[in-house]
Amino acid sequence: MRYSGFQVFLNGLTGNRGWAPVWRDPAPKDHYDVIIIGGGGHGLATAYYLAREHGITNVAVLEKGTIGGGNIGRNTTVVRANYMLDGNVEFYSHSLKLWQNLSAELNYNVMLSRRGCILLAHSDGQLDALARRGNMNLMQGDGAELWDAATLRRHIPYLNFDDPRFPLKGGLMQWEAGTARHDAVAWGYARAADRLGVDLIQNCEVTGFRIAQGRVTGVDTTRGHIGAGKVGMAVAGRSSQVAAMAGLRLPIESHVLQAFVTEGLKPVIDTVISFGMGHFYISQSDKGGLVFGGDIDGYNSYAQRGNLPIVEHVAEAGMALMPMIGRARMLRSWGGIMDMTMDGSPIIDRTPVEGLFFNGGWCYGGFKAVPGGGHVFAHLIATGNPHPAATKFRLDRFARGAVIDEEATGATPNLH
Ligand SMILES: Cc1cc2nc3c(=O)[nH]c(=O)nc-3n(C[C@H](O)[C@H](O)[C@H](O)COP(=O)(O)OP(=O)(O)OC[C@H]3O[C@@H](n4cnc5c(N)ncnc54)[C@H](O)[C@@H]3O)c2cc1C
Repeated sequence: MRYSGFQVFLNGLTGNRGWAPVWRDPAPKDHYDVIIIGGGGHGLATAYYLAREHGITNVAVLEKGTIGGGNIGRNTTVVRANYMLDGNVEFYSHSLKLWQNLSAELNYNVMLSRRGCILLAHSDGQLDALARRGNMNLMQGDGAELWDAATLRRHIPYLNFDDPRFPLKGGLMQWEAGTARHDAVAWGYARAADRLGVDLIQNCEVTGFRIAQGRVTGVDTTRGHIGAGKVGMAVAGRSSQVAAMAGLRLPIESHVLQAFVTEGLKPVIDTVISFGMGHFYISQSDKGGLVFGGDIDGYNSYAQRGNLPIVEHVAEAGMALMPMIGRARMLRSWGGIMDMTMDGSPIIDRTPVEGLFFNGGWCYGGFKAVPGGGHVFAHLIATGNPHPAATKFRLDRFARGAVIDEEATGATPNLH
């Protein structure tokens, strides 16, 4: 079923009984050309682009829980392409361009809202560094606007300019950045992949790999053995555990990241504000809730929930930046498992096992990367070669010393 204004009108008149299920619920087949492990954003997008761009439709996405129950449904929905280092700059730019037309392409409203994202600067040196970053973005064809303190104050007057924890010197604004509806991205890709013939198999956990003479031949699952020509892993926070089943040890640690939302308020914050110095960022959802987060919990964990010290830390940082949020009541908080690489940048590559491919290491930035990550991963699986926008995300870059240390805080996750 194709969604349209006419369908909404028709179903409105007929008691909304005409809607078809959003995707099928097929039983797993014995064999697929490609199996994607993980029904999160990256797994679903990969399956969609395999079918759409490469004509490979004998594909299954195996998801141990339900579609959208992982980080794709737990993130704070920030979409941007204001990275600085070679490798990341071209990739995130590629992804941002795919976001642009995504709702129309998927025939599903992902509620992309280009409301801009400002990275704050607190010293002259930091403003210089942001200018350099902005130049990288401009050279890539993405937007970047350097704001001085007066411009910042004009646009965002409610920041704590007069008694700041760190001086507010200006910032780097990217107007093309913003937010999107996280669930809708999962559901939109799932529905579009299903319509192209991809089998989405939920409640199907991969428990092992079948490997013969160095080549993957299928996977064992809680719903039995399923054969495959090729297998792609896109399991985010569970990357190390799933890769270990194929005998691989990844340069990845899993950490918890929390997010918070307040009760619904009238529109007050019309952009995304990133306060890197204080470990805090905030936007306002379409429902009116202030959505914010901060740093990772800082210990390795596979629990999808966080601890109180970070709640205090994030609330403190928020109060330091914009004391007005002290009046809002926090409604909910939750956590997700982050797959943190040792340099803060992702990995999209072949593995030493023939036919087995890896997508992961997204740290806390993989939502904005969903269209791009799925697109380049599908290219890699279909052609065997990296997509031009993702040539640097190699698995062996740590051994070669070719790290992409985007966060510039040291090549260890505990310093992020
Ligand atoms: C609190 C929070 C805030 C965030 N904010 C942002 C943000 O503002 N912007 C941004 O760009 N990014 C953000 N992120 C990061 C982003 O959400 C993730 O990087 C991204 O969603 C990870 O990719 P994914 O969607 O494919 O992961 P997931 O949705 O986690 O998908 C992986 C799937 O694999 C499944 N799986 C695992 N093991 C198996 C197995 N053995 N067999 C079968 N299936 C398996 C899991 O159940 C899961 O559904 C945030 C993350 C969190 C937790």
